[in-house]
This record gives sequence, C-alpha cells and structure tokens, in this order.
Amino acid sequence: MRTLVTGGAGFIGSHLVDALLARGDSVTVVDDLSSGRKSNLEGALQAGAVLERLDIRDADALGSVVAAVEPEAIFHLAAQVDVRLSLSDPALDARLNIEGTVNVLEAARAANPARPARVVFSSTGGAIYGDTDVLPTPETVAPLPMAAYGQSKYCAERYLGLFDRLYGMSTIALRFGNVYGPRQDPHGEAGVVAIFCGRLRAGGRPKIFGDGRQTRDYIYVADLVQALLRAGDSDAGGVVNIGTEEETSVLAIVDRLAELHGPGAPEPEFAPARLGEIERSCLAAGRAGEVLGWRSQTAIAEGLRLTYEALAGT
Ligand code: NAD
Repeated sequence: MRTLVTGGAGFIGSHLVDALLARGDSVTVVDDLSSGRKSNLEGALQAGAVLERLDIRDADALGSVVAAVEPEAIFHLAAQVDVRLSLSDPALDARLNIEGTVNVLEAARAANPARPARVVFSSTGGAIYGDTDVLPTPETVAPLPMAAYGQSKYCAERYLGLFDRLYGMSTIALRFGNVYGPRQDPHGEAGVVAIFCGRLRAGGRPKIFGDGRQTRDYIYVADLVQALLRAGDSDAGGVVNIGTEEETSVLAIVDRLAELHGPGAPEPEFAPARLGEIERSCLAAGRAGEVLGWRSQTAIAEGLRLTYEALAGT
C-alpha cells in the first residue's frame, strides 16, 4: 500500500513508519522536524522511506507532495502536542492542530477526488474527555477539554466528519491514551515515563506535579501501532478510543521504575499541580475491539521494563 505519515519523524510516527515498511508498504514521511528527529528514521530511510520536510500549515507544499505520492492511506500524526504551550499560545495550537488537519484532509481530497486516501487521525482521549466520573470512559461521553490542546484535537475530529459528509471521504479518529515507549523524548514536556526514565538514568530525582495520585491510561507504543495499522486497513469511521482500560498513578510508575533501577533509586520530589491537568483518565476499549478487532497486549510493568531498558543509551 502507498502510505503517507505526517509527523513520521516523531516518537509514535517513527514506530508506525517502521511497521508499515516491515509489512511491505511504501512510505512517505511529512515532517518539519520541529520536535521529531531524522535519527528516528535512520533505519526507515535506508529501507526506502522518503522524508519530505515541510510544515503542514503550508497547504500548497503539502498538497503538492500528496498529489505526487497519491497515497491510499494517510496517517496524520503531526501536531502541536504540548498541553502547557496550548494554554500559553492557544492560537498557535489551533493553527497547527486544526488548520494543519484541514490542510491534510483537503490535500487528500484534491489529490484524488474520485477516490481520496483514507485518513487516520491521531486524537487524544484524556485531553478531550477532561475530568469525568465515567471511568473507563466510552466514546459516548460528552467532551469537556480542560486545555486548548484537547479542544483543538476535538475540533479537528469534527472536520473529519465534515469531509466524510461532504465528499464521502473515509476517515477515522483514534483517541489515544498516554503513549509511552522507546524513542519518546526524555527531555520533552510531555511523556512522564520518558522523563522519569531520563531523570533516573542521570541520577536525578523524578519531579511529580501534584500528589502523584493522578491516574492515566498508559499504552505501550507497539500496541498503539497495531491499532493504527488496523485502522488504516478497515473502513470503520467515527471516533475510537485506544487504551488499556487500566488506570495507573504517577506514584505507581515511579515505584516500578525505582524497582527497575535497583538499590539507591533517588526519591521523587513534589511540585504544585499544573493548570490544565486532569485527575483521572482511563479509556473504555470496547469499540476498538468491536470495529478494529484490537486490544492492548503489553502489561504496564512489562512496557515500563522495555522502555527503561531501551532508554538506557540515551
Ligand atoms: P512527537 O512530538 O514525537 O511527534 C509529532 C511530530 O510532528 C514530530 O515529528 C514533529 O516534528 C512533527 N510536527 C509538528 N508540527 C509539525 C508541522 N507543523 N508540520 C509538520 N510536522 C510537524 O509526538 P508524539 O507523541 O509522537 O505524537 C504523535 C501524535 O499522537 C500527535 O498528533 C499527538 O497529538 C498524538 N497523541 C500523542 C499522545 C502521547 O501520549 N504521546 C497521546 C495522545 C495523542
């Protein structure tokens, strides 16, 4: 299959690119390398993937690439992913996550109006549902984002529906839980697992914002990639949660990483909770089972071990 992955040089995107190549697809990556790295694609570029360095806000440049490649499936992962930046600069967040997504949809439609590429959109669970009492949260719960990031992702999802209605496009939005695994940036703003692994490796203390009892649905990146592949191959539409149905607290993550570190693991330090952070998040995964035949495979203890060991050299 001819595929195009926006954000393919990033953490999740680069794992997806590897999996697409491994099953024999041709892959074009669209990425401006703002947070992604060319080194994430080292093996992929050797295996025949093509990197087009451009900003998805540049509709003309994006449209030219999509028209030339004529992909059958587009996995749209390029995004502004920083919740705190979305609060300090909500307009920037909207330009990247809403306008960028509209550009992707429009490029797919214009490249082949009779048979546009299927578009798989990477959305978010926790940031869209906000603080809800319904846990694990099904897709039917009304969105209540607590930050511009969740709002922009939700708005982008609605554009998928619009392009379905207007042009009969085949699209799906996957609402991910908190994704973790090798290649996640340990120096970044998001990604508590990578940050803690990085701190522990450097002999530093993990910094916990709030009391550490806040929970998330942590999903291992290899499991998520399987969901993306299935979503690309199916014709299911609408929104689908991709999570584990398990809540894990930040304290439990720190405990498990301390166990992996062994004796002498530094104790965590605590800082005040941050604006825009929700208390609990856990995604119902029933719809993913029904429409994609997917469920997560990697238990959190095992996923943390794989991640901790993979980040050893970084
Ligand atoms: P990431 O920052 O590693 O990847 C994002 C990629 O998009 C990077 O390679 C970056 O260079 C690229 N990019 C950013 N702005 C761009 C632009 N204007 N034009 C072209 N490329 C651009 O982040 P990630 O964790 O791999 O996230 C991938 C997707 O998954 C995002 O859409 C994110 O919102 C979504 N998501 C991630 C998580 C998670 O826990 N990591 C959870 C829910 C949803």
